[in-house]
Amino acid sequence: MSSVAPPATHPTVPKVSKDEEPADLHIPDNYVEFTVKNSKAKPPVTWSNLLSELNYLSLTILTVTPSIAIYGLYTTRLRWETAVWSVLYYFITGLGITAGYHRLWAHRSYNASKPLQYFLAMAGAGAVEGSIKWWSRGHRAHHRYTDTELDPYNAHYGFWWAHVGWMIIKPRRKPGVADVSDLSRSEVVKWQHRWYIYLIVGMGFLFPTLVASLWGDARGGFFFAGAARLCFVHHSTFCVNSLAHWLGETPFDDKHTPRDHFITALVTIGEGYHNFHHQFPMDYRNAIKWFQYDPTKWFIWACSTVGLASHLKSFPDNEVKKGQLTMQLKRLRETQDSIEWPSDPVDLPVISWQAFQEQATKRPLVLIAGYIHDVAAFLDEHPGGRHLLIKYIGKDATMAFFGGVYDHSNAAHNLLSMMRVGILHGGAPHGLEEKAIPPSQRLRVARHSELSSPYSSTANSDGEGMLG
Ligand SMILES: [Zn+2]
Ligand SMILES: [Zn+2]
Repeated sequence: MSSVAPPATHPTVPKVSKDEEPADLHIPDNYVEFTVKNSKAKPPVTWSNLLSELNYLSLTILTVTPSIAIYGLYTTRLRWETAVWSVLYYFITGLGITAGYHRLWAHRSYNASKPLQYFLAMAGAGAVEGSIKWWSRGHRAHHRYTDTELDPYNAHYGFWWAHVGWMIIKPRRKPGVADVSDLSRSEVVKWQHRWYIYLIVGMGFLFPTLVASLWGDARGGFFFAGAARLCFVHHSTFCVNSLAHWLGETPFDDKHTPRDHFITALVTIGEGYHNFHHQFPMDYRNAIKWFQYDPTKWFIWACSTVGLASHLKSFPDNEVKKGQLTMQLKRLRETQDSIEWPSDPVDLPVISWQAFQEQATKRPLVLIAGYIHDVAAFLDEHPGGRHLLIKYIGKDATMAFFGGVYDHSNAAHNLLSMMRVGILHGGAPHGLEEKAIPPSQRLRVARHSELSSPYSSTANSDGEGMLG
């Protein structure tokens, strides 16, 4: 037997200065419960306190932008070059959020080279959704405390709260602690935070206007590639918090609200496989199948092929499959529970051969694979004819049923088991285990508590065993 020596040094948290210390280093073990119980939430918003509870900065950005876009729509002719540029710039700034803010900085699902980081930081600023640091801090809290009061965009408060409510109304309580000390050390994140105001004006409006001026349509550039595009990027990315927690399926886990849906993917540049994402947040993909729509994944992958990105993280397929299987079994169990099954053998009376003989004179009883069946209701339904059943009343029809006279179908065997009324003393006299179990019951979904414990007394415990 070989044993492995313990590591020479015990892993410790590296020494860092106070402001670089992880924000969650000293939280108590019962942090969530403790915080919800002991930190006071702001009073509910009503018509009387609404004006003092609004976040006017967010409200202004989210109302003025569409107003400018609508004004432009009625006063400016849309040129095709500008239309193409607006759509392109929608994708560029959208990717700034999805590939940059979200998958790179909030989740660290891949490594990006400096040029790519600056590109994403600038593109993300053009989406006007706060700095990388602020955005990632909220998003990490969202993942850590999903659907709880510490989740800044708690989907249990409704679609509109998760979409925009959480921004235009002052938070009802501080989001749960989430560490972003890694981002505080990043040169690009610090740079973006510092120049953020200039960057949103420059990337949000100036740059799209300048580009369109190349074909003499600065006005169109401002209204369409600037304001209208920004409005679309806003609501597109907000859908990740609202629509993606509301519409679709839960193929990996149904404990929380995140869901998978193609439509959400379509409107969010591929962030629509949100059920997967909440299960495997460090994965650079949202969609795992090649035919699912995830342009953000395609973008990251393309960057990796030209050396701009590296270390793309993806969860082991084996673990992904476990999640899927768990949900599939859960659904199968629901179907299984909705079906009527034969009586449990332990509930059936065990009778002697003699008693069987006696009772078979009063009603049509047939013995098959150790079970006694009352075929009264089936006499006229029997496809092979009534006479064949009558012939076996009071007799053992096992051989005849399983191929001797006719090799019955699985469906026939399943149906037969519904006619069980008793067991012949001596168990299954033929020892035909397979034949005693109807095909529909040979494979079943059982809860862990319904099975015998896998951790039985055979586990050895000498107190000095090494962990594998
Ligand atoms: Zn989410
Ligand atoms: Zn996320």
